[in-house]
Amino acid sequence: MTGLEALQEVAAHVSVCTLCELHYSRRLAVPGEGPANAEMMFIGEGPGFHENEQGRPFVGAAGQFLEELLASVGLKRRQVFITNVVKCRPPANRDPQIEELLACSEYLERQIQAINPKVIITLGRYSMARFLPNARISEMHGQAVSVRGRLVVPMYHPAAALHQPALRPIVVADFAKLPEWMAKAGNISKMQTEVTLSEDRNLHSEQLSLF
Ligand code: URA
Ligand code: SF4
Repeated sequence: MTGLEALQEVAAHVSVCTLCELHYSRRLAVPGEGPANAEMMFIGEGPGFHENEQGRPFVGAAGQFLEELLASVGLKRRQVFITNVVKCRPPANRDPQIEELLACSEYLERQIQAINPKVIITLGRYSMARFLPNARISEMHGQAVSVRGRLVVPMYHPAAALHQPALRPIVVADFAKLPEWMAKAGNISKMQTEVTLSEDRNLHSEQLSLF
């Protein structure tokens, strides 16, 4: 199966998935979008109102800000893969719950395996926690961490920066470092090993190293 086929399969499964309660409140599932060979993958929290209506990630106000941030480092949205830790909208945009995150985790894992991105940028706490369970976003934002040979860069969620203006320059500064992280990731990519599902799930903090 090619990466593209694997992504299409995930999207097909997600669109009819009933593995967690969120399927009751969704209109359209939002599997994510972007090229199968994207070097960068952005992982947000979950679909909001507009995403649920359109079946596409980050199409509301947070998405517009994300596109601005991408443009600030010369990137277009279509060059990166964008998805979320849960693929269906939580009612009234509440936080995703642990059972929902666990139920949906395998879809994200399959997407990561299919794309094999050089760098994963996590947007917000829930996405960061998947890779760095004990990290605090106030300490880790904008730093690149090697998680089993793959570079993970936690960032504040763009929506948080829209609600708290003080975060905005921080998010902008963190994005400005992306080209640097991409270059670093190029150097370590030779050492990359296949991350299996079980290995990824059993991550411990001692397996992490800061760059
Ligand atoms: N916020 C997210 O976390 N994901 C989206 O897709 C849109 C807004
Ligand atoms: Fe399935 Fe994920 Fe949607 Fe839950 S959020 S119903 S696990 S696709």
